[in-house]
Parts: sequence; C-alpha cells; structure tokens
Amino acid sequence: MAYNKSLPLVDLHRHLDGNIRASTIWQLAEKNHIELPANSLEELMPHVQIQKSEPDLLTFLAKLDWGVKVLATLDDVKRVAYENVEDAYNAGLHYTELRFSPYYMAMTHKLPVADVVAAVVDGINLGIKDFPVQVKLLGILSRTFGVEHCTEELNGILTHKDEITGIDLAGDELNFPGELFIDLFKTARDANMRITVHAGEAAGPESVWQAINLLGAERIGHGVNSYKDQALLDHMVKYNIGLESCLTSNYQTGTVKDLSLHPIKQFLANGNLVCLNTDDPAVENTEIKQEFNLAQQVLGFDHDQFTTLQENAVKMSFTSDTEKQALLQLTRHS
Ligand SMILES: [Zn+2]
Repeated sequence: MAYNKSLPLVDLHRHLDGNIRASTIWQLAEKNHIELPANSLEELMPHVQIQKSEPDLLTFLAKLDWGVKVLATLDDVKRVAYENVEDAYNAGLHYTELRFSPYYMAMTHKLPVADVVAAVVDGINLGIKDFPVQVKLLGILSRTFGVEHCTEELNGILTHKDEITGIDLAGDELNFPGELFIDLFKTARDANMRITVHAGEAAGPESVWQAINLLGAERIGHGVNSYKDQALLDHMVKYNIGLESCLTSNYQTGTVKDLSLHPIKQFLANGNLVCLNTDDPAVENTEIKQEFNLAQQVLGFDHDQFTTLQENAVKMSFTSDTEKQALLQLTRHS
C-alpha cells in the first residue's frame, strides 16, 4: 500500500455533490419520476462517470449534473450527505472536509437554498453517528451561476455557520474570475469562515494571486498552473498557503495531459505545503488510496514523500492545533 499507515488518511478536497453514487442517482430518479438518459444502471455510467478524460473543465463538470438533478426533496439531499460519510469511512479516511454548493443542489427542483444547507448538515450528523470518521463541511459558491446566486448561497450557508467551517469558490474559473467575488469573501471572512478557492486549474497563476490577495484564500484547490510563477510558489511557502492536488481530476479535466509531468513534484521540491485529494470520487471512479497508488506508480513517489504529503494534509486541515495533534495520534489499518 502506497501510503504511510502510521499517519492518518485525510481528504481535504472532496465534493459531496461530486460524490453521489450512481446507484443512488438511479434509485432517486425512479422514486422521483425523473427520466434518465439510460435504461439501466450500466447504461447510466458513462453519463455520470468519466471514462477516460474530458477536453476541458466545463465538460468534466457536466458529468456531475445528473447527481443533483435527481434531488427532488430535502430528504434526498440528506440521504446523499449521509452516504458521503459512509463512503468516506469505507475509503479508510480518518478525516475529511466535504464541500458542497447548495444552490447547485437546490436549483433543479427549486429547493430553498438554506434548507438544502440544513439537510446536508442533518445528513452529515446522522452519518457520523454511524461511521467513525471526522467530517467538516465547506460551503461552495458556484461562480458559474454568477454573483447573485453566489450571494444566495453564502446567505444560506451563513444561516448555519456554526456547522460550516469554510467557504470555497468553484466552477467556471475562466469566465468568472475571483475579482467578481471580493465582497462575498469579505463577508465570509468577517463571519470567521476559513477560505479555500479553486484557482490555477482552468486559468493561470494570475487567478491564484487573485484568490490569495483579493479573496483571502488560505488554501488553493488544484493550483496546477502555479508552477508557471516561481514568485507565487515562494509566496505560498512564506505564508503557508496550501495546495490541494487532485491527480485523477487534473488528468480527467484535461488540465494535465501527462500525469507523469504533474507539477506536484515541483511543489514538493519547492517546499510548498501540498497534499493529495480526490475531488469528485464517484464521478472520477477514484478514492484516496488510489490517488496514493497513482502517485507511486506514475510519479515515482516514495515513502518519505507520502509521509510529507500526509503530514501536510493534517497541517492544512481547517482544524485547531489540538485537533491536529489528536488526528496525528490516529491510525487505522484498513
Ligand atoms: Zn474541486
């Protein structure tokens, strides 16, 4: 096994709404009388899972759509949140941060956004009673839907701010740059939300600079294109800004054409805080252990590099120092 078993398994970049089981999509469609583009679960798979890689980020993101289109009631939302905890536990994770976009989950059936947030919180709370895995929640503002809907999302998230640890910005990075969301992220920071931002995935280093300087990002989702700007990498080292790398996702979105050349090697060599994550496990058909295996097989990472990646994940987690120490004491051989 390609990871250090004496350290916890952590997944910080994991979309709850990108991890809706195909079997659940199938069952919910049947229950809610929603027509799917398939006559069997097998036929559904290519519509909800990436088969090899997609030409770009937006085509990749379209594969997530069926998962949310079948969410017709708040109970459906609660169910997928609960199943996400079960999946995280079954993946061998000790700690995970599950992120979700409440408007994206709400929009097809016009569910009230704040109620969707409450249903996710309920599902997670039920899940952690049944499965011993630590979970924190991050609310996503989906830039693809524009500032107005992002405002609605933030308001919904902040009505449950005691149960939500942080805010993320995701979606169409090229057409909706970070500078559009300055006010929303100020509001989030003022409400003591931790901040991570998807950047440097579809766009270049300038987008990562915006995330840091304009939105107050403490971590960057992907940040792949940061490798093009040494001053940016050094700035991130100096200010402990972590990079959430997702190998399979970066390949499937077409961000990295050849995984053996993934800049995570450069990030590690430069001393950047970087860790391995899954992104959208069900859509990508991956899990955290598979990402470590890939890092070993394709990038040639060794035990010392896994140790660094796993320690980094704990350091980067949106938890207190006490929680980090407790997490480091955990080991579970699974
Ligand atoms: Zn992501």
